[in-house]
Amino acid sequence: MPITAIGLEGSANKLGIGIMRDGVVLSNPRHTYVTPPGEGFLPRDTANHHRDWALKILRQALDEANVKPSEIDCICYTKGPGMAAPLLSVAIVARTISQLWDKPLIAVNHCVGHIEMGRLITGSKNPTVLYVSGGNTQVIAYSDRRYRIFGETIDIAVGNCLDRFARILKISNDPSPGYNIEQLAKKGSKYIALPYTVKGMDISFSGILSHIEEIAKKQLKSGECNPADLCYSLQETIFAMLVEITERAMAHCESQEVLIVGGVGCNLRLQEMMGVMAEEREAKLFATDMRFCIDNGAMIAQAGWEMFRSDPKRHITPIEKSTCTQRFRTDEVEVTWRDD
Ligand code: MG
Repeated sequence: MPITAIGLEGSANKLGIGIMRDGVVLSNPRHTYVTPPGEGFLPRDTANHHRDWALKILRQALDEANVKPSEIDCICYTKGPGMAAPLLSVAIVARTISQLWDKPLIAVNHCVGHIEMGRLITGSKNPTVLYVSGGNTQVIAYSDRRYRIFGETIDIAVGNCLDRFARILKISNDPSPGYNIEQLAKKGSKYIALPYTVKGMDISFSGILSHIEEIAKKQLKSGECNPADLCYSLQETIFAMLVEITERAMAHCESQEVLIVGGVGCNLRLQEMMGVMAEEREAKLFATDMRFCIDNGAMIAQAGWEMFRSDPKRHITPIEKSTCTQRFRTDEVEVTWRDD
């Protein structure tokens, strides 16, 4: 019997609901809360956005998949990590349809969702994973039934560094600040030296951000550099740091595959730099496009589908325990669906 899973995601500014059936994406609509240039998204407003769009996106997901609620086997939702108010808004929708439709609930770790969707879409078997987004920056590798974190940011996420830099320059948030920085960076020609902050396997971005903010204030006024130069320099520096720690994890694990997931993973310059490193190691680079690397509902359905089919007893969450949490580390989840 095929297993059909619906996944609800809303841990940051995207609301996504996707339906998966045995590795096939039946539907995956998403709506993004976009703020004006210079402004970030605040938890309360983001939660309001998700509440406004939840039923529209749910209807769209069912219609596009041509699936009736009775055909769904499990309802998967993001338990965390993420912003509390948006997470909670979506968890309540999941809980409600679970009771209305009388279907089991599966609480999914958002990072594990990214990894499983990335593996499915690219066909990579056991990759070293770089997960880069607005809220997360981790180098992950699988070992003994856990996705282990080999390195991570010690302060802000790489995407948050890019988002906040976009706010300083009043770069548009539509479709995303990172996308617009990437386009502008292509026009940059002058490399401005920035701090390079790799600490063993971990990295730090907050000092780089305050440093480049100072440069932006002084040098943009005096005409010593332009916004494109700053975007270019920031990308080159922070992406080099990410590639460095990813390579070290690959060397340690003797890994022949590297997979980039998360919203920043759409960045073609990051993919290019990672590709150079992978080629030198005779390893293979795997990446996905915007449909799947940016937060979406199908990735939550995919991870939930794996949990549900491998060990339903362990993974089904009773309604009264269907909570969410801002902090939920990738290695807290026992990977019951892999036995390598
Ligand atoms: Mg994410």
